[in-house]
Amino acid sequence: MAHEEAARSGAGAKLVIRNIGVLLSGDLQRPILDADTVVVKDGKIAAIGREKDVDTEGATRVIDANGTTLAPGLIDSHVHPVAGDWTPRQNQIGWIDSCLHGGVTTMISAGEVHMPGRPKDVVGVKAMAITAQRAFASLRPSGVKVLAGAPVIEHGMVEEDFRSLAEAGVRLLGEVGLGSVKDGPTARQMVAWARKHGMQSTIHTGGPSIPGSSLIDKDVVLAADADVIGHINGGHTALPDAQIRSLCEESSRALEIVHNGNERAALFTLRTAKELNQLHRVILGTDAPAGSGVQPLGIIRVIAALSSIGEIPAEVAFCFATGNTARMRNLDSGLLEVGRAADFVFMDTAQHSAGKTLLESVRLGDLPGIGMTVIDGEVRSERSRNTPPATWVPKIVK
Ligand SMILES: [Zn+2]
Repeated sequence: MAHEEAARSGAGAKLVIRNIGVLLSGDLQRPILDADTVVVKDGKIAAIGREKDVDTEGATRVIDANGTTLAPGLIDSHVHPVAGDWTPRQNQIGWIDSCLHGGVTTMISAGEVHMPGRPKDVVGVKAMAITAQRAFASLRPSGVKVLAGAPVIEHGMVEEDFRSLAEAGVRLLGEVGLGSVKDGPTARQMVAWARKHGMQSTIHTGGPSIPGSSLIDKDVVLAADADVIGHINGGHTALPDAQIRSLCEESSRALEIVHNGNERAALFTLRTAKELNQLHRVILGTDAPAGSGVQPLGIIRVIAALSSIGEIPAEVAFCFATGNTARMRNLDSGLLEVGRAADFVFMDTAQHSAGKTLLESVRLGDLPGIGMTVIDGEVRSERSRNTPPATWVPKIVK
């Protein structure tokens, strides 16, 4: 038995997923694939096709999808982790595991800003970012990939600081605006230094989130030119519609819609992006943990809301939290393509939904029932303890 388990996860592991009902690709150009089988070798997608056309021999693990829908694991583009699976913001343990049960297999830190006593001097900011990057690189809570180590820029940082952070393995900048730098010119300079050294950046957008933070309006967002317009729908307080429209029109950066934002502004952003033919820029996050708490189902709640009220096909809304984010963030997951990481979520129509299929049920505003998650080819959770129960769930047959 121990040998079998080792073979299933170690080198030479081969996972075959068959009897897939609907295969969502994560790619806006072609959101539904004509295939029923996925083969995974050593944690990477090796083949996608009809069962008779792909090599399923020698599988070390076989999953019968039972006709359910398979999608790339969901990516939460905006979280605030601190240490392992604990958040001091709401003093909760196990929040990342709860999100796995909401289909999230990758999270991206927008800054470890809830660290009690967070350092604000330059040496302290850098030390904390490197610590967070290292800690989450060596410990994945419940298998979830948490990309952390996202320093929040402070006055006094110089190019050498960004160079040395990048050299130490830090790849992200936390939300610009949550530290002392809140003016366009300084933010622009530091974002440019970060970019030059291979670090991606996010900017806080909208009114202050908690006492002590402040307004970041569209002029600062446009001047800073960060890679991601973080919570364009406010975190929670949103900018006026005209400013949101300016950000959609005058910038080409990612338009991040979060659960912990203003719902009306989220719909306004979606409609504006659609009108401008810019849906490829829409990515999703929760902005949790936050004042609103932890939302294990936050990403699927935003998908269901945007699809139903925003009148977008469900298969397109799933792309916002998968392929769009993967492309914007240069991740190896998020798309069902050969060579990509085998991070998946299995979903089915929630029991007693008015929708006859999973996609129809989401289009009607219901949450999907999650039946299983897989990360790097390994089963990480089975029937979700958090979603409404899926009508059908996949079965591990070997
Ligand atoms: Zn924010």
